[in-house]
Amino acid sequence: MVNDSDLRHLRRCVELAREALEAGDEPFGSLLVGADGTVLAEDRNRVSGGDHTRHPEFELARWAAEHLPAGERAAATVFTSGEHCPMCAAAHGWVGLGRIVYASSTEQLTEWLAALGVPPSPVRALPIGEIVPGLPVEGPVPELADEVHALHRRLHEKH
Ligand SMILES: [Zn+2]
Repeated sequence: MVNDSDLRHLRRCVELAREALEAGDEPFGSLLVGADGTVLAEDRNRVSGGDHTRHPEFELARWAAEHLPAGERAAATVFTSGEHCPMCAAAHGWVGLGRIVYASSTEQLTEWLAALGVPPSPVRALPIGEIVPGLPVEGPVPELADEVHALHRRLHEKH
C-alpha cells in the first residue's frame, strides 16, 4: 500500500526528474529512505555526458553498499519516478536493498516511448520482479505517472 509519506517521497522523485530534464538529462529521479523515514540519499539521471549507466537507482545502490550495513540496506526503501531498469534492479538486488516504490512502470514507459517514436533501448525492458524475485515492489501511482509521462513528452518533443 502506498501511504501519504510514500507519496511525499514520490513527489520529490518527480521533482528530481524535472530537474534532470531541465539540466539536459533524462527525466528520472530517486530517493533512498531509511527504515525510520529519513531520506538518506537522493539522485537524478545524469546521462547527458554520454555514460548511459548514470541512472539514479544505480548510484543509490552503490551509495548504500558504501554507507549502510546489510541490515539497514534491507530495511531501506528506494522511491523512484520510474521503475528500475534491469541494470538498476540487479544492483539493488546485489546490494540487498529492500522495498521499491515507483511512480510509473517500465511497461508504461515502453508504451509512452513507442508512441513518441523513440527507438527501442539496447537493454530489454523487464519488470523488477523478473530480475529480483520476491522483492516488495509497489506502483504505478496513476496521478504521478501522468506527471512523469508529461516529462518524457517534453524530452522527446524537444528533439
Ligand atoms: Zn537503470
